Order: sequence, then C-alpha cells, then structure tokens
Amino acid sequence: MSNSTVHDVVIVGSGPAGYTAAIYTARAGLKPIVIAGSVTAGGALMNTTEVENFPGFPEGIVGPELMAHMQEQAEKFGADVRYEDATKLDLAGDIKTIEADGETLQARTVIIATGSAYRELGLEGEKTYAGRGVSYCATCDGFFFRDKPIVVVGGGDSAMEEATFLSRFGSSVTVVHRRDELRASKVMADRAAQDEKISFAWNCEVVDMAGDGNLESVTLRDTVTGQERQIPANGLFIAIGHDPRTDLVHGQLQLDDGYIVVDEPSTATSLKGVFACGDVVDHTYRQAITAAGSGCRAALDAQHYLEALDNA
Ligand code: NAP
Repeated sequence: MSNSTVHDVVIVGSGPAGYTAAIYTARAGLKPIVIAGSVTAGGALMNTTEVENFPGFPEGIVGPELMAHMQEQAEKFGADVRYEDATKLDLAGDIKTIEADGETLQARTVIIATGSAYRELGLEGEKTYAGRGVSYCATCDGFFFRDKPIVVVGGGDSAMEEATFLSRFGSSVTVVHRRDELRASKVMADRAAQDEKISFAWNCEVVDMAGDGNLESVTLRDTVTGQERQIPANGLFIAIGHDPRTDLVHGQLQLDDGYIVVDEPSTATSLKGVFACGDVVDHTYRQAITAAGSGCRAALDAQHYLEALDNA
C-alpha cells in the first residue's frame, strides 16, 4: 500500500545512530519516520549488559534501558518509530522509496543506520545446534546454561563481556581465542582474567561440535601445533565480531569492504539525499557513542540538504 505523502526524512535502523538521527531531525521539525526493525529494534546494545562508557551514566546503564531512553527522547520530539523491517529501498532520484512490511513510503532523504550483524564461524554445527547450545547473545540465552560448561569464542571486548556475564551462570567458562593475545580493551580483559570461573584456551579454534540433540562438546584445534582435543560444552557463545548490514543498499550505494562509503567528514553517501551513520559506516571505532555522534552528523547533513533544496 502506498500513500502520496513525501516525508522529509526516513531513518532505517534504530541503534544509537538511528535514534540520535531521529532526535535531531525531530527537533528540527522534520517529523522523521524511523523504520526500527521488528526483532532488531534498538540494535546491538539490546544484547549487551552494563554499558559503562556511555557519557552521562557514571553508574553505568544496561543496553536496553539506554536504547529505551533514546527512543523515548526521539518520540518526545515527534519521531514516528515503527517496529517494521525495511524490505526494499530505491534510493536513486529525488524521491526515494522505502518498502517496509507491505507499505511503501516516500522520502526526500533517507538516513541508513542499519548497523551490523553478528559474524558466524561458518561451521555446520552452528545450524545443527542453533537454539540447542549455540548462541550469539549471552544476555538472551545465558540463563539456560546454569551450572553447565560454557565456551565463548573470540578475543575482543564482546567475548570478554559475554564471558564475564556468563560466569554467573555456567559451572565454567572457557574463552577460546585463535591467538595468544587478546584484542579486548585492558579493563575488560583484566576483569575476565580475574574471574575464577573463566579460563583461556589460547591459540585455539573451534572446529567441530557434538552432542545427542543438544550440544555436549566442542573440538578445539591448536592453531600452532594442529593438535585437536574435545572439551565439554553445553553452551557455545560465538562473539567474533560483526559485519555491516548492507543487503538493502547493495548495488545502489558505493561500498568499501562491505561498509557504506561516506564523504568524510560528512555522512553523504554516493547518492544525493542519502546519508549513512553508525556501524554500517564505521570500521574503526564501532562504539555506541561514536555511532550516536555520527547519527547527529547524518541528521544535520539531511537537514542542510533539505534546506538547500527548499531555498533553491
Ligand atoms: P572485534 O573487536 O572485531 O573482535 C573480534 C574477535 O573475534 C577478535 O579477537 C578476532 O580474533 C576474533 N575472530 C574474528 N573472526 C574469527 C573467526 N572466524 N574465528 C575465530 N575468532 C575470530 O569484535 P567485538 O569484540 O565484537 O567488538 C567490536 C567493537 O565493539 C569493538 O570496537 C569493541 O571495543 C566494541 N565493544 C565495546 C564494548 C564495551 O566497551 N562495553 C563491548 C563490546 C564491544 P583476532 O583478535 O585474532 O582478530
């Protein structure tokens, strides 16, 4: 179903970048529509626990609460947040079209803030044991592994955060990392290292999974010696990073290594009237606060673009 209203701004995505863009464009009177996503609304922070480094919250704040605040703030200024999935975008031309859950919207500007999706190991077992031991979200599934052995894969902040959170449930938590040095920040690595339930399997990769129905063990291969060993694991949490979510813009916007290319320091993409912000653009910093900052820039860029059109 399509109606003839041409909106000033449609924002696709609802993490810190999308909601910040919504706050700024709504405050500027542009009445943004936010296609927030159905299951992914709120973005990656919905799957995190305590966020300790977002300025303004000296005691920390849990991710979903932070996102609820951002949404509330955007709606207070008039943003129209819809829990729909964008299914098709047509970004060329002066009027862009956005299909979301059977409805077609038209807009003069689109802000892409689709974030990133978790990376998979690429093992058959990820499908076999999906929902039966394999998970990508400790806060969602950790509870199911009370007093059970848990394995976490990865050496970054996400893996440390997951391991630390999971240690309150599991009988043991083994962090499996393919190198002998963590990528994680010192504070998060130290916290995991000091946790008595957490141990590290250095220079190791998970190469296989086994279990009768539910996951029972994983096979680790030493990346140096090639030796393999099996360790018990009822829960396998994969935290090996994320890839930018660009399916909707493939073939339309210029990409580099999967990320949307913007004309730094602006958020302008290769198509006029289309701006991009947050993790879908950023392969360097990938923090909630940098995503929020770029959402602000995208909003201001869209606002200035519209003003220039109106004054032409
Ligand atoms: P990341 O920093 O990219 O780390 C990914 C980890 O997974 C790396 O240790 C990498 O190993 C490993 N890895 C990647 N592909 C693998 C594969 N196929 N098999 C085995 N291991 C693999 O990702 P992240 O931990 O999700 O963090 C992303 C960003 O979010 C970072 O900027 C981080 O600071 C931020 N973050 C912040 C917080 C916080 O401050 N509270 C929490 C979570 C995330 P190598 O090290 O060998 O490359």
